[in-house]
Amino acid sequence: MAGKLLIIGFGPGSFEHITKRAREAIQESEIIIGYNTYVDLIAGLLSEQQVVRTGMTEEVSRAQEAVRQAKLGKKVAVISSGDAGVYGMAGLVYEVLMEQGWKREGGVEVEVIPGISAVHSSGSLLGAPIMHDSCTISLSDHLTPWELIAKRVEAAGMADFVIALYNPRSGRRTRQIVETQRILLKYRSPLTPVGIVKSAYRDRQHTVVTTLEDMLNHDIGMLTTIIIGNSATKLYEGLMITPRGYQRKYTLSAETQPLKPHQRLKSEAEPWALEQLEAEADFDESFEAYDEEGELIEDDESEEIAEPALLKSSPQAQSSNSLQLAMEALQLVSQGKDSPALAFDSKLIATQAIFEFAVSPGVANKKMSAAQLCALGEIVGDRGDIEYSPHHQLIVRVQTDDPNRITSELSALGLLLSPIGDVAQIKACDFCNLEKGDSIPYAEAIHNRIGNLEVPKELKIGFNGCGMACYGAVQQDIGIVYRKEKFDLFLGGKTVGRNAHAAQPVAEGIEPNELVDLVTRIVERYKKEGHPNERFHKFFKRVKEIEGYRHQEAVGFVIENALCGD
Ligand code: SF4
Repeated sequence: MAGKLLIIGFGPGSFEHITKRAREAIQESEIIIGYNTYVDLIAGLLSEQQVVRTGMTEEVSRAQEAVRQAKLGKKVAVISSGDAGVYGMAGLVYEVLMEQGWKREGGVEVEVIPGISAVHSSGSLLGAPIMHDSCTISLSDHLTPWELIAKRVEAAGMADFVIALYNPRSGRRTRQIVETQRILLKYRSPLTPVGIVKSAYRDRQHTVVTTLEDMLNHDIGMLTTIIIGNSATKLYEGLMITPRGYQRKYTLSAETQPLKPHQRLKSEAEPWALEQLEAEADFDESFEAYDEEGELIEDDESEEIAEPALLKSSPQAQSSNSLQLAMEALQLVSQGKDSPALAFDSKLIATQAIFEFAVSPGVANKKMSAAQLCALGEIVGDRGDIEYSPHHQLIVRVQTDDPNRITSELSALGLLLSPIGDVAQIKACDFCNLEKGDSIPYAEAIHNRIGNLEVPKELKIGFNGCGMACYGAVQQDIGIVYRKEKFDLFLGGKTVGRNAHAAQPVAEGIEPNELVDLVTRIVERYKKEGHPNERFHKFFKRVKEIEGYRHQEAVGFVIENALCGD
């Protein structure tokens, strides 16, 4: 007998915000399937149910397991925080069912139980920012190409939507929110109100109300939802409020209104409505000319009238003409001196792209001179920033319309500049203050050959000058260690995460004259055959063999990955 799939959105995580139907559904299920943190959040509702927990990136296996168990006749709950149909599990479970040819009639029963999504829980903490047309955009480019996300941000900015940003930044995915701010500043005032909410209705809830120009100066991570107001959103008592437009028709401080509710369809009440605009367009086409005595001028006569001053509108035209005046008046009001729109216009002129890049003193050299630091300081000025990265680089962000000038100036001072993102980078040791420098030319040759090459996911090539490997080459995606005048090679380190592991030693004693070509071939194959966003260690595991080196499973215990901040 077919079972049932209950796909449950349990809201932000607090018990009182879980709907009654969601609680019942959890309790009536035999099996609960969910991401670890989510299972913990609903632990108080569990009794005898079998619980299947999986890691953060294992949504597909969760969906497949749920379908499998339901087909065995079980009542299975698949849980998502927020709403299961908003970046949650509902779509994926349906996709798995579709792959298996599921039919509503005769197949397992499916019930999707709605929950409060982050846009709404965060909105409630910020005031009333989503009172008008709004959209949600996830900035995660793991499953969606960034170009498409950027297009959506651009369109939402242009169309004056209130925008809720999901997945705005993670430990490693930091550029998307910077780019999003840059795009939105093309369309919105820098003073546009912005709300940043972390862990809404959970223990570590944190709320900040700021502005579009200042938002990046606040803590933003994977558990954050950002709400960006539209051009009408206001700040009041630390809250964000987006007016819906009642002030256009009513005087909110008066008890007696000049317009009654039944007047809503009259032209003077809604001069901006589509019907009025169409009437205006019709009027433009049927504009008639009258002589000074008010007599209608026939078509052939009107051609001879040169001056618009002689054109007068018919009674119908006069009423339509008032629409134009009303439209102009509304435009003036919305761009009044206190409106952010006016401030926007003057600041827009000064808006420049943010240029972000990494700087280091050299492949092997780790020391910066005072002249280099002074030049960097001058370029960054008061408005840019410099951040020291875990990869021994300075990440520089600066507003400029002339990035070429900056790169030439810094390169002339001997600094090594790299793009940020999914590129191959070589990380060398300092060769004991350059004293053990025999292998440096090989490190530089690799950098010159494939440094900054675009690859499916950022790729770190560790290069250390002796068997001490004290700069951690063997923990990188690709590790190279110089030993006894030859090279040892390591592939597939997992550099981050709680289950990080060293790379697999694949070769010892590689001849120096073979090294650069060998590493280049490995990286070029990864570039060609790697899936978008596939890390090198996963690629090695998937293809099983690279340059004749066979992948071996790392020995160890399985440990769940954790969300940033958990
Ligand atoms: S890896 Fe070897 S050569 Fe490089 S800094 Fe450490 S000890 Fe010196």
